[in-house]
Order: sequence, then C-alpha cells, then structure tokens
Amino acid sequence: MASITLEKIVKTYPDGFTAVKGVDLDIADGEFVILVGPSGCGKSTLLRMIVGLEDITDGELRIGDNVVNDLAPRDRDLAMVFQNYALYPHLTVYENIAFPLRLQRGALSEQDIDAKVRRAAGLLELTDHLERKPANLSGGQRQRVAMGRAIVREARAFLFDEPLSNLDAKLRGQMRTEIARLQRALGTTTVYVTHDQIEAMTLGDRVAVLKKGELQQVASPRGLYDQP
Ligand code: ADP
Ligand code: ADP
Repeated sequence: MASITLEKIVKTYPDGFTAVKGVDLDIADGEFVILVGPSGCGKSTLLRMIVGLEDITDGELRIGDNVVNDLAPRDRDLAMVFQNYALYPHLTVYENIAFPLRLQRGALSEQDIDAKVRRAAGLLELTDHLERKPANLSGGQRQRVAMGRAIVREARAFLFDEPLSNLDAKLRGQMRTEIARLQRALGTTTVYVTHDQIEAMTLGDRVAVLKKGELQQVASPRGLYDQP
C-alpha cells in the first residue's frame, strides 16, 4: 500500500493535444478517491499515466516516496481494472487469477501461488468456480475474476476505470457493495473513475472533479453533492 502524489501532471499527445493540464492531487495511503468529469475530460489519460501505460509529458508522479515517471508498468506495482475486463478465454478462473503472479519478477512457488489465488477467490466468492472458463460465467462473475486478478498481487494501489459500466443495474448494485467491502477489508489505496453518481456518492472518501484536463474540485462526497 502507498500514497499516490500527482504534481503538476501534464499530458500532451503526439498530435499536440493537451489532455491533462497540470493536475495536483495527493492521495493518502489507504484512501479511496473517485474521479469524475464529462467524457473526454482526461480521466482515462490520468489513470493510464498513473499505471504507466501512457508517458507523462511534464510534472512528477510519486508512489509512496518514489518518483515513478520513468518506471515500466510492472515495476510500479499497481493493479488496474478496466470496464472491458479482458480475461483469457482459454484459461480457467484459477489460471486467470494466477496469471499476474506468474508474470511477476522473482518466481513464486506453486504453493505460494495457490495460497494467494485461493485467498483472492475466497474474498470474491469464486472458490466454487475456479475450474470454469470465462465463457461459462455470468457478467458479474467475470467482473469478479478481473478483480481477483487485480487483488491477487497485493499491489500498492488499485486503479479502476469504470469497472461496472458494462453490467446491468442489479449486478452493478451488488458489485458496488462488493468493491466497498473489499476495499475496507484490504485497505488498499484506490483511484476509481466513474460516470455513476451513486458510485461517486457512496464509494469514495473524496471525489475529484476533472474538467477539460483540469482539476476543478476535490471534496468529500457530501461536500460536493450537498452544494446548492
Ligand atoms: P475521459 O477518460 O475523461 O473520457 P480521455 O482521457 O480518454 O477522457 O481523453 C481525454 C482527451 O484526450 C480527449 O479529448 C481525447 O480525445 C484525447 N485523447 C485521448 N487519447 C488520445 C490520443 N492517443 N491522441 C490524441 N488525443 C487523445
Ligand atoms: P514490460 O515492457 O516491462 O514487459 P509492459 O508494458 O509490457 O512492460 O507491461 C507488462 C507488465 O505491466 C505486466 O507484468 C503487468 O503487471 C503490468 N501491466 C500492464 N498493464 C497493466 C495494467 N493495466 N494494470 C496493471 N499492470 C499492468
């Protein structure tokens, strides 16, 4: 677990378009921050820079005390969950969850992998489905496998990019409860992008509002939505 600090973070794409225009944000160790804002305001760009899938044009990104601007994704030790949680269709639930552990630097024993996969599966109530393939799971179960893949590494932080937007309303409600419970149980620093006002109001410690690449406001959910 670790804090995430953004200092004057800028992203200019190769075509010259500046999608993120000097964002400052301090996310405390264990904090759950929701990132909201209109489509195209730079939310995904910001997440992708934090996880290392997009270069940072200017500014400083720190995870804990380390400046990570130039670190490869695998060395940042973060876990990201996308909305189109791509699972490996030919692998079982067990192997999908184990996959990130097998990629890690420093080989883990099969015994360690097994213990970690079973712990993550237990937290997500997937224990009975470990031998199934993704095609034979419900949407909610697939989403939980994607979460399992994120939590199994005990990463320093979670980054969620609208993870529930492809689910129907009922499943979304269940998964919302699940995510809140999981984050409390694990206490992992989390940045969560959403369009959903209920998620924004109920999940986070703070809500950050991005508009045209600039941070407009950071407040508690109450502070934000109780305004006249
Ligand atoms: P959001 O996630 O808030 O919808 P994005 O971060 O995806 O916004 O995009 C922010 C802005 O950057 C948008 O105007 C988008 O068109 C632009 N953008 C995204 N990716 C690229 C790219 N590879 N090249 C140029 N512009 C991009
Ligand atoms: P490298 O060039 O060092 O192999 P890659 O960019 O190919 O790095 O990414 C591979 C590693 O990056 C994987 O081990 C994985 O842990 C991490 N990674 C890639 N995408 C993500 C993501 N969306 N969320 C978290 N980690 C990721």
